[in-house]
Amino acid sequence: MVELDDKIGSRFEWMSRGELAEWQSEALAKTVLQAAKSPWYSAVFRKMGIDPASIKSPEDIVKLPFTTKEDLRLSYPTGMLTIDPEDLIRLHTSSGTTGTPTAILHSRADIDCWAELMARCLAMTGANSKDVFQNMSGYGMFTGGLGLHYGAERLGMMVIPAGPGNTARQIKLIRDFHGTCIHATPSYAMHVAERMIQEGDDPKSLGIKRAFLGAEPYTEEMRLKLQELYGFKVFNSYGLSEMNGPGVAFECPEQNGMHVWEDAFLVEIVNPETLEPVAEGEVGELVMTTLRREAMPIIRYRTRDLTCILPGECPCGRVHRRLARMTGRSDDMLIVRGVNVFPSQIEEVIMRHKWIGGNYVIHLTKAEALDQMTVRVELAKGEFDGSIETVRNLRAQLHKELREQVGFNVNIEVLEPGSLPASEGKAKRVIDEREY
Ligand code: ADP
Ligand code: ZN
Repeated sequence: MVELDDKIGSRFEWMSRGELAEWQSEALAKTVLQAAKSPWYSAVFRKMGIDPASIKSPEDIVKLPFTTKEDLRLSYPTGMLTIDPEDLIRLHTSSGTTGTPTAILHSRADIDCWAELMARCLAMTGANSKDVFQNMSGYGMFTGGLGLHYGAERLGMMVIPAGPGNTARQIKLIRDFHGTCIHATPSYAMHVAERMIQEGDDPKSLGIKRAFLGAEPYTEEMRLKLQELYGFKVFNSYGLSEMNGPGVAFECPEQNGMHVWEDAFLVEIVNPETLEPVAEGEVGELVMTTLRREAMPIIRYRTRDLTCILPGECPCGRVHRRLARMTGRSDDMLIVRGVNVFPSQIEEVIMRHKWIGGNYVIHLTKAEALDQMTVRVELAKGEFDGSIETVRNLRAQLHKELREQVGFNVNIEVLEPGSLPASEGKAKRVIDEREY
């Protein structure tokens, strides 16, 4: 398929817009022809009267149908496969956060391309072969494990494939082997820091320089809190199994939006209701087409993730456009008393308080036909002065700030440190016990 350039500081990373556009046209045309070899897309194209050879440039993308998670489920296990199954080398699935997991099949070229993109992300942050990288992400089918692993190895880092959990061992490994970079979910990184503080230890003493955090939405406030606790720089990492996994979009040292590798993914932002493109800078649903996939190309995949393209150029000089921090998935939006609320709006308020820890739960119930929202937070062990007065003030303050944020009264429960369930992977922030 599309020829790979396996040098990490590759010509693709520093392409001009013009070169990128030319490359995208060629890669898209090849992708559509390749997709037409699969039973799924050949049937879809036939039904819609689409001649795959007529797709010649990114502007033609609107002639093609969207692909949804449901389509991936319907075509499971091999409906979108375009090559001889004997040439496959790997299977991955999504985490199944919102239902049945989807399966993605990879050829050798696909795995190579993924590793290259991932290495490009890591190198962009300033990491290099001298770094020691501890991967706290789940291995196995989940893409955060092997995805980061292959990228970090390609960069020549020493990789510690610790996997998630066993916090005491994580800390010991980083200390004993002088870990300089970690990959985790933001909620787990927060948990590790809080555990250390509870035990009278200081996360800064680990000497970690860079943290690659993603796989779940988090706020700028959470980033700032983590950076302060550890003294490292946090780089937001975005990806999804359907588009390989991590390595799709990553922050550069500017830490202002994630460069999405446009030589590998054609990006659209659409209004999730009308499916029409939104204006530049406007929030909508991210839609992506693989441009370098061989075994299982996916066309116009509706990610359900809400974001926008940041206008303007990045001072770093890379022309690959930047995605703003994800607000969440369209299905993460809560409707409480008729008001649309994203968990990230609640998180933003919580993270501003130094006496409150980084873990929280949003509990929804119904009382006399009225939605009730209770937000449970924990005191931060290192900061709390131990007085009841402080707790009372905190509760009142949070209550006021959350009412300003969402427009209705929210119940607040302030708990002892370590009371809420800790997350090792994607945190479950919302418990919805309303009856419909
Ligand atoms: P699942 O869709 O079952 O969770 P994946 O493991 O493929 O399976 O997860 C991909 C999803 O994780 C993305 O679609 C997105 O919702 C979320 N995600 C990944 N990285 C980030 C990030 N940096 N910020 C916000 N959400 C993220
Ligand atoms: Zn940049």
